[in-house]
Amino acid sequence: RGAVRFENVVFGYDKGATILKGIDLDVPAGTTCAVVGPSGAGKSTLARLMYRFYDVNEGRITIDGQDIAGVTQASLRAAIGIVPQDTVLFNDTIGYNIAYGRAGADQAAIEQAARGAAIAGFIERQADGYATRVGERGLKLSGGEKQRVAIARTLLKDPPLLILDEATSALDSRTEAEIMETLEAIERGRTTIVIAHRLSTIVNADQIVVLEAGRVVERGSHADLLAAG
Ligand code: ADP
Ligand code: ADP
Repeated sequence: RGAVRFENVVFGYDKGATILKGIDLDVPAGTTCAVVGPSGAGKSTLARLMYRFYDVNEGRITIDGQDIAGVTQASLRAAIGIVPQDTVLFNDTIGYNIAYGRAGADQAAIEQAARGAAIAGFIERQADGYATRVGERGLKLSGGEKQRVAIARTLLKDPPLLILDEATSALDSRTEAEIMETLEAIERGRTTIVIAHRLSTIVNADQIVVLEAGRVVERGSHADLLAAG
């Protein structure tokens, strides 16, 4: 589930310049594709097209073979988990922030869902004792911890397709590497698109696509790209 294809996708924002100039992309279900490239290359734009925040001007995008032009934005949002760079947390507990929107208004249910998330997926394995901290207030968290909360919240949805849009780019490289390692360990088999700017963080991606000025200028494995210089 979650296989993504871009076929000659062309896109420009309202009356502006063409941003994506004919993108072809093939992300088989269950694989990880990293998209790297300089700032302004069109990486975030590419991500936004997948959940129809904007529609393509030419070409098409399919998910599991279905042209998304025929799918509502609401159902795409339900099927795609997106983790952005900046997470804004409620001034409430880690548990509340993880479970927000999933567990209803009942505080006990929220805490329950948060514990479930911690044990089933992300937080427990990230750092010893973390699961016991679900009652801690969100604003005391470090940047890395906030992004872990954001990722856990997204994984609770169990989305077939996960998009990390510079989700760890603002963190120091060690914290970023730790989060990526955890994700790789628990998310193997989920179709994942990682938008990043450090090549070092995406060594295990099945494929890496280099975007420059709206075009794919290189694609291959991490080793291929290093060999190509
Ligand atoms: P990247 O993620 O690779 O840094 P973006 O996709 O954010 O690149 O941006 C690609 C280009 O599109 C940039 O020139 C940027 O200024 C432009 N752009 C991004 N968002 C918008 C928008 N909402 N309206 C108009 N232009 C935009
Ligand atoms: P989904 O959770 O299905 O992706 P949304 O796209 O509505 O649904 O929300 C994405 C995430 O944004 C939610 O998990 C929630 O934690 C957060 N969120 C939603 N509304 C707000 C808000 N008003 N303030 C801060 N965060 C919010």
